[in-house]
Amino acid sequence: MGLFSRRKTVFVDADILVVGGGMAGCGATYEAGYWGRDLKVVCVEKANIERSGAMAQGLYAINCYMGMQWDENQPEDHVRYARNDLMGLVREDLGYDIARHVDATVHKFEEWGLPIMKDPETGRYQREGKWQIMIHGESYKPIVAEAARKAATEVYNRIMVTHLLTDRTKPGRVAGAVGFNVRTGDYHVFRAKAVIVCAGGASHIFKPRAVGEGMGRTWYAPWSSASAYALPILAGAKMTQMENRIVLTRFKDGYGPVGAYFLHLKTYTENAYGEEYESRWYDHTKALVGDYIDMHPVPTCLRNHALLEEIKAGRGPIRMVTKEAFADPHKEQVGWENFLGMTIGQAVVWASQNIDPKHTNPELTTSEPYVMGSHATCSGAWASGPEDCAPADYQWGYNRMMTVDGLFGAGDTIGGSAHKFSSGSFTEGRIAAKAAVNYVNDLKSEQPQVSEKEYEDLRTVVFRPLETYRVGRNEIVAGTVSPSYMLPLHGLQRLEKIMDEYVGGIGANYTTNEPMLTRGLELLDMLKEDLDHLGAEDLHQLQRAWELHHRVLASEAVTHHTLYRTETRWPGYYYRGDHPKLDDAQWHCFTLSRYDRESGEWAMEKAPVYHIVD
Ligand SMILES: Cc1cc2nc3c(=O)[nH]c(=O)nc-3n(C[C@H](O)[C@H](O)[C@H](O)COP(=O)(O)OP(=O)(O)OC[C@H]3O[C@@H](n4cnc5c(N)ncnc54)[C@H](O)[C@@H]3O)c2cc1C
Repeated sequence: MGLFSRRKTVFVDADILVVGGGMAGCGATYEAGYWGRDLKVVCVEKANIERSGAMAQGLYAINCYMGMQWDENQPEDHVRYARNDLMGLVREDLGYDIARHVDATVHKFEEWGLPIMKDPETGRYQREGKWQIMIHGESYKPIVAEAARKAATEVYNRIMVTHLLTDRTKPGRVAGAVGFNVRTGDYHVFRAKAVIVCAGGASHIFKPRAVGEGMGRTWYAPWSSASAYALPILAGAKMTQMENRIVLTRFKDGYGPVGAYFLHLKTYTENAYGEEYESRWYDHTKALVGDYIDMHPVPTCLRNHALLEEIKAGRGPIRMVTKEAFADPHKEQVGWENFLGMTIGQAVVWASQNIDPKHTNPELTTSEPYVMGSHATCSGAWASGPEDCAPADYQWGYNRMMTVDGLFGAGDTIGGSAHKFSSGSFTEGRIAAKAAVNYVNDLKSEQPQVSEKEYEDLRTVVFRPLETYRVGRNEIVAGTVSPSYMLPLHGLQRLEKIMDEYVGGIGANYTTNEPMLTRGLELLDMLKEDLDHLGAEDLHQLQRAWELHHRVLASEAVTHHTLYRTETRWPGYYYRGDHPKLDDAQWHCFTLSRYDRESGEWAMEKAPVYHIVD
C-alpha cells in the first residue's frame, strides 16, 4: 500500500445513508428528510443525482399510476396485473403497498413542476395505456433530484460505494459503507445507523447485441452495474428471483421503446411476409405453460416467445407496422417526440439507416438479458413486507428491511415486486425511508459500531487495482496485455461471454441447461480468482474495476438461481433446455439464495408464494 498511503480518508456520520440517488434513492432521501427532521440524512451517488440512473435521459411516460381519484384502477387490479405478467410469482404484499401509495407520489411530481399531459376532453391525465400516463419528461430526473437535494442533510456526488460495513458489536447488522471519490480518489467511510441501498439494476452482465464500435449501447443504462445486488449479497442478505432476468422487445439497434407505439399509436407487429404470427404459436405455447397463455394481457415473456419462435422458423425479421399510424400527422409527431424525450439515439439510428417510419416499417429485435427489480421482472433482495398486509412468512422486521438488520432497499434493489417503474421505485424509496426512520428512532442508545480494522482493510482492497497497474505496467512495452494484471474491460468481456454462452444469452438463443450452468459456474470461479489481479490505470478505471466486481457477483447469483429452478417459468426470457415446461406443482414458489463470503458458498431454498388478492 506504500504508493498510496497518503490518500485522504473522509469520515461521514449519518443516521440514514442512502446509496444511489436514482429514482428510488431520491424517493428515500426525500421521505427520510420528511419523517426524520432531526436525523442526518446522507445520499451518496457515483454520478450526480441531477442526471443519474436509468432515467437520466428523461422519460415520456410514467408507467405506474392507478388513477384512484377517478376510479380508473385500484391497487388490487395492479397486483393482479403484475401477478399475471410474472407467471403467477410476485410478492403481492410489496406490490400492493406500492400501488396504494403511488398516485400520491405522482401528484407530488406534478406539484414540483413535471408537466403531465392532460386529456382535453376529460381533463384527466392522458393515458398511454391502462397503467401509463404521458409526460413531457426530459427534465423528470432533475425535478425529482431537486426535491431530494432539499431534503438531504448532505448529498455526496461522484462517490462509488464498493462495500457495506458491518457492526462490530452485533453480527448481521449494517453499520455504514465505504467507497471512493471517482474524481479526487479520496477514500470515504460512511458510518450510519441504517443504510438504504437504491443502486439500480444490471446491464452488461450478458454480452450485448452491440459490441465493438457499438459497445455501450444497451437498453438498460450501461452504468447500471449491479451494485444494488452485490452490496447486499456481500453483507449476507438473501436474494430472490435472480433467475428472472428480463429480455425486451425493442426497435432494432437503438433499443427505442415500443410502449407508446403499441399503446398510444396502436401499431402492431408482423413477420417478414406481412403476416400476423402470434396466434400461430398459441397451441405450442399452451403446451409449455398451460393457462398462462390465456391471461390478458398476454405476459411479456410469452410475447417475446412468439417473436423468437417466428424468427427461428425463418420468417424474420419482425417489423412494427408504423406506416398506417404515421399517415396521421398528429401520431407521427407523437412517435418522434416519444424518442426526443428519452431515447434520442433511436431517431439517429433510423436516420443513419434510411428508415423513415412513415415509409418503412422498422425492425424489432429482442435485447440481451438484464437483471432488475422494477420492470416486467422482479430480481432483487428478499425484504420484509408491510405490517398490515404481509403474511407472517414475509415479515421479520421493518418494511423493506432485508435479512440484514438495518439494511433497507428500494426500486431495482428489491425483489419479488415487478412493474414499479419510475414512479413505483420512487414510492418504494419513500416507504423504505419511513421504515428506516422508525428503525433508527427505535435503536435509542444501542447504536452500530464501525470496526477500524474493517474499513482500513477495505481501503487496501479498494485501491489495490491502482497499485497492481503501477507495478505491472513496467513489464510491458506496448499494448494492453500484461502478464501481471487484467484490465476491467477484458474482465467485462470475459464475464459477458460466459454469461452469454452458458447462462442463456443471445448467443445461445436464451437457452441453457444443467451441464452448461455448472460449467458456467466453474468459469465464473476462475474469473473471480483473476479479479484479484485487476489493474486500473486511473480512477475512472478503478470505478470500472469495482463495477466489474459487482457484476460478477450478481452474475453468480443469476447462475445459481437459474440452476436451482428446474423448470422454464418464463419462456421468452430464458429456457432450461433440460426442463422445457412450466412446473407449477414444484415451482409455484420463490427461489432464495444466501452467499457466505467466508466460504464462497451459496445456499439455496424455496419460499412460499401467498396470494393475498383474489
Ligand atoms: C431505457 C429505459 C426506459 C424506461 N422507460 C420507463 C418509462 O417509460 N416509464 C417509467 O415509469 N419507467 C421507465 N423506466 C424504468 C425506470 O427508469 C426505473 O424503474 C427506475 O429508474 C428504477 O429506479 P432505481 O432507483 O432502482 O434505479 P436508478 O434510477 O437506475 O438509480 C440507481 C442509482 O444508483 C447509482 N449507483 C449505482 N451504483 C452505485 C454505487 N456503487 N455507488 C453509488 N451510487 C451508485 C446510479 O448512478 C443511479 O443514480 C425505463 C428505464 C430505462 C432504462
